[in-house]
Amino acid sequence: MPVCEICRKKVKEVFKCKECGTRFCKKCGDPARLLCKDCIEYEENAMGQYRPEQEIEIDTD
Ligand SMILES: [Zn+2]
Ligand SMILES: [Zn+2]
Repeated sequence: MPVCEICRKKVKEVFKCKECGTRFCKKCGDPARLLCKDCIEYEENAMGQYRPEQEIEIDTD
């Protein structure tokens, strides 16, 4: 039986996250998008906190 790498439970089926390669059960991610919940959170945070002006900040001497 496969083990979910996120909740560490034995589950019927695991899916491999396309971002980080973690094998997750359907409770720990989105099988349709092949993203574990960590990567889903990361993507949502990255989008929510996106500030274009910070992108311009380049450290030059
Ligand atoms: Zn899980
Ligand atoms: Zn992931």
